[in-house]
Amino acid sequence: MDPAPRPNALKSMGHRLSLTKLRRALSGRKKKLQEIQEPDEPYQTTPTTTKPEEGQEEEEEEDDDDDMNEGNTVIGLLGGGQLGRMLCEAANPLGIDIAILDEHNAPAKQAHNTNRHVVGSFKDPGRIKELAARSDYLSVEIEHVDTEVLEDIEKNGVPVEINGEIVTHRPPIHPSWRTLRLIQDKYLQKEHFKSSGKTIPIAEQIAIESGDAALDSLKKAGKQFGFPFMLKARKGSYDGRGNFKVDSEDDFAEAIKALGTLPLYAEKWAPFVKELAVMVIRTEDSDGKLKNCVAYPAVETIHEDSICTKVFMPPRDVSEDICDKARKLATEVISTLWGRGVFAVEMFLLEDASLMINEVAPRPHNSGHYTIEAVPYMSQYKAQLHAVLDLPVPDKLIPRVQSSIMLNILGGAKPDSHHHLSGLARSTYDDDMDVYLHLYNKESKPSRKIGHITLTGFCSVQELEAKAKPFIDLVDQIRLDRLEATSETLRPTQETNGSAKPAEKAPVEPATDNHVEAQELSAVAASSDKPLVLVTMGSDSDLPVLKAGLDILKEFNVPYALDITSAHRTPKYMMKVADEAAGKGIKVIIAAAGGAAHLPGMISSETPLPVIGVPVKATHLDGIDSLLSIVQMPRGVPTATVGINNSTNAALLAIRILGAFVPEYQQAMKKYQVDMEEAVIVKGTKLREGGDAAYLAGMKK
Ligand code: ADP
Ligand code: MG
Repeated sequence: MDPAPRPNALKSMGHRLSLTKLRRALSGRKKKLQEIQEPDEPYQTTPTTTKPEEGQEEEEEEDDDDDMNEGNTVIGLLGGGQLGRMLCEAANPLGIDIAILDEHNAPAKQAHNTNRHVVGSFKDPGRIKELAARSDYLSVEIEHVDTEVLEDIEKNGVPVEINGEIVTHRPPIHPSWRTLRLIQDKYLQKEHFKSSGKTIPIAEQIAIESGDAALDSLKKAGKQFGFPFMLKARKGSYDGRGNFKVDSEDDFAEAIKALGTLPLYAEKWAPFVKELAVMVIRTEDSDGKLKNCVAYPAVETIHEDSICTKVFMPPRDVSEDICDKARKLATEVISTLWGRGVFAVEMFLLEDASLMINEVAPRPHNSGHYTIEAVPYMSQYKAQLHAVLDLPVPDKLIPRVQSSIMLNILGGAKPDSHHHLSGLARSTYDDDMDVYLHLYNKESKPSRKIGHITLTGFCSVQELEAKAKPFIDLVDQIRLDRLEATSETLRPTQETNGSAKPAEKAPVEPATDNHVEAQELSAVAASSDKPLVLVTMGSDSDLPVLKAGLDILKEFNVPYALDITSAHRTPKYMMKVADEAAGKGIKVIIAAAGGAAHLPGMISSETPLPVIGVPVKATHLDGIDSLLSIVQMPRGVPTATVGINNSTNAALLAIRILGAFVPEYQQAMKKYQVDMEEAVIVKGTKLREGGDAAYLAGMKK
């Protein structure tokens, strides 16, 4: 694609006057318009920052006085969340004015006082134009904005009235709307990298047809990529929302149910060993010619429940050589885009030490928060300001500390769940580790990003991690409490006498975001009505198989807890759950797994409780692989094994075990057996008396 056509704008800051100064010039301060124009590009605009007041000419002096940040260059920002807030924090000491388009009192608005903010949605074309009319430049803190209106502003400008005259104003837009539009569609974004002429490795991908053709498309993806593969919404996704991990053909229906109304694409599974990210500053001249791409150090990002929770700089156990390659690759990627600003490049580090691009964010990013303290002379926010305004940026970005860890503060189970953590940050003073707390003044809601903590040190990242352990433990604890609270709301309601009422609905809905695999349904919670049976599975794709067994448990009023404990993807968590189950009052564990079904055996190795394995029929080998994996446990580690997909028998066996000690369960089991016997006797009588033809006809009905 050609570079974006450049706006008819004034050039770099050095040549540029802000709207306020321009207005002053036009209102008789003897400054000739030509002096502030491009010599060969007549600048026909005489913009204003606010609606012109009556009597403006006579009261120009006074009006200027009213102008809070008079003379400052104004960047209009679409979106006023925490990224905008930190941008404002960087802009304040630099004398740069930020006009924010977002809700009243949005986090960014709280951090910057100006009379230029606009109240409204950053998706509303009218409000965006209003913002453009009062800004020298436009930028974004979120990529999901209306690019049509940005394109229109760049091409046609916005009318503004100055001294009674309507003129056209074209604030330069950075990054370019072309970049924003491309990045909004993850599929096209990667197609662009593929055809950019640069060597940019991406996962194989295919577009998924919409409507009835979706199923065939998914089959094609399964054939081409094998399983699992990732089904992704092309647009509008964040924090993993919009991703669905497809483990087998059995998931197709659910995948379509979860995402089918959106334009989709499928991506080959990237078996990464780590996720890395690199922030890049992209500069270009006012003709749209690339000047430079400068990379920050590579960082390691940890995603839990699809949200970035921790960032390590430098990445742990990754060679400098790989980090250098990551930075180089990131600059290559960003050089193919348009406009100025900072960009985040998310990538996968694969087992063979090669890198693969996941996606790009055209703005400051979670993975760059650490730069506020670690690269203080040019944080990602200052870099965004300097790049957008075409102010100088360094040609190398060297951290001023040896290591740094960023921990996101996510809203916990209760509004004050994070207080202990923020309190620890406030009270920790340590010569070997500096602690920086950032709260965004957002209402705490479960999983919401409400702040972050950056820790820096002059030691290795491993040593810093060891020092930071109390912080990391608290962050993990907030998460576990949140997950447990979530699962409690999913658990069947229980009566105080200890028996469970049948739940009104299935205790868990399969997660719509199947990518959120481990622990989302974590349910080994201590509660007053303790579950007696723990039903755990290797993947939420096993849940449909377990449904029959769960129905039996409900029928017998057996309180149970649910969890996902993958033997291969979350082995530590699985062992923890197995280890703690008995102490939490669990009496029997049912564990379901498919394929290389190690879960039941591994759980059995870690608990003294009886474990019943349910072999789940996976994609290949008709479930024989799962069956043999579970049944062939070595001597000493008994694992009861039921038939393939037979969760009914697993539940019945669990109830029989409970019945050995709880008479009520034994009686209920006896009744179940009698009912079953009677049902068969009734059938036999009917068959004997009615004959086979009538019986078969009845069956068809
Ligand atoms: P978001 O827009 O929510 O950040 P991403 O496409 O970056 O969505 O995916 C979120 C996370 O899902 C990634 O950080 C990574 O952990 C995982 N993921 C995404 N794509 C793949 C893939 N092709 N293979 C394996 N994991 C993936
Ligand atoms: Mg991502």
